[in-house]
Parts: sequence; structure tokens; C-alpha cells
Amino acid sequence: MRILLVEDDYMVGAAVAQALKDAAYAVDWVRDGQTAIEAARAESYDLTLLDLGLPSSDGTEVLREFRKSGRQLPVIIVTARDAIDDRIEGLDLGADDYIVKPFEIRELLARMRAILRRQGSGSSAILSNGAISLDPATREVVHNGDATRLTAREFALLQALMLHPGTILSRADLERHIYGWNEEVESNAVEFLIHAIRRKLGASSIRNVRGVGWMVDRSS
Ligand code: CA
Repeated sequence: MRILLVEDDYMVGAAVAQALKDAAYAVDWVRDGQTAIEAARAESYDLTLLDLGLPSSDGTEVLREFRKSGRQLPVIIVTARDAIDDRIEGLDLGADDYIVKPFEIRELLARMRAILRRQGSGSSAILSNGAISLDPATREVVHNGDATRLTAREFALLQALMLHPGTILSRADLERHIYGWNEEVESNAVEFLIHAIRRKLGASSIRNVRGVGWMVDRSS
């Protein structure tokens, strides 16, 4: 899952970016409104966290731009503006949720999961194809009855595959679920992660389609 974080406050931005990475999201962090608008044109995000008080274009301008372009990008406004009028304006402009600073990161993560769940095909919190089930809230993975822990990146990769069971994802597809812009990606990073996941879950957990990519079975 790839998140666009729009936040000009360095302390808040760094803390949220790190918490998101720890929770197995790929994060692109931008610090002004214009860059946010350009980023959302260039990349397809699963969700945006949007501050309102921003240089170059205010958060409400950014949200207007997003909605004008007709894209269904989910947005959570994360702001110090706590007036009822601000909240109503934000939600009426098309934000999916509104969180007032200061906030607890746990609550932000739970609200993100709630929105991402609604975006997905089902309302279930757990992703499962019968053999593998994966819980985004606890990052626990159960494979044929055995519970296993994955690292944040292993989890991000498996989640990308489990969101599209039966679909082959290429190396580039997988990389964009796992790494933000400013992260170095080793050329064999995806193979390395797949190898680690297979060691924990068994060789049959992820199928390799030679020269094309990888997939998990739709159901088993
Ligand atoms: Ca701000």
C-alpha cells in the first residue's frame, strides 16, 4: 500500500512517516500543496494524509484539485484546525475522514485501515485465500494453521499479492507497494523478500511466473 503524506511540519511528518513504514506502508512525504498535487498526478496512491495549513497551496486547495480530477483517492485530513466549520468544509470537499492534532498514531492507523477496508472488495479486516490469512491490524500471518511474524517489508509484499489473489504482479508493481521515493531499492530486493516469505510460509505460498512476476492463488 502506498501512502501520500502531505505535511510541512518536520517533526510531525518524520514521526508519521516512520510510523507508517513500521506499519508496512510505502510512504511518499511531500511538504507543500503544489508538490502534493503533482505527486498525485504522477503516482497512484492508496490513500492520502493531508495537512490543511501548507505552503504554496492550502490543503483545501489540494483536496479541490484531487476531486476536480475525478480520482477516487481516499483522503484523511490531519490538521490542527479543530473548528466545526473547518471539519464540515473538509468533509464536504470530499475528505473521507478528519483527524485533529495532536492525535495518537494508533488511532490514525486504525482510521486508515477502516478506509482502506472500505475501498477493498470486502468489509472483512482479514485478507485470506484459504491457505494464507493476513491481519493488517496485528501484522500476523497464518499459513495452514501456523501463525508467523513477517517483517514490515515482507508483510507489505505479501499484502500486495493478497489484495489481488490470482493476479500476477511484476517486480515494479511489488516495489511500488513496498518502497517510497527516497528509498534505495536493491535490484534483487523483491527476490530476497519472496525468498524470506517462502522460508517462513512454505515454497507453495507464492508462485513465480517466470519472466512475468509473482502471484498467490485465488483460493485453495
Ligand atoms: Ca501545517
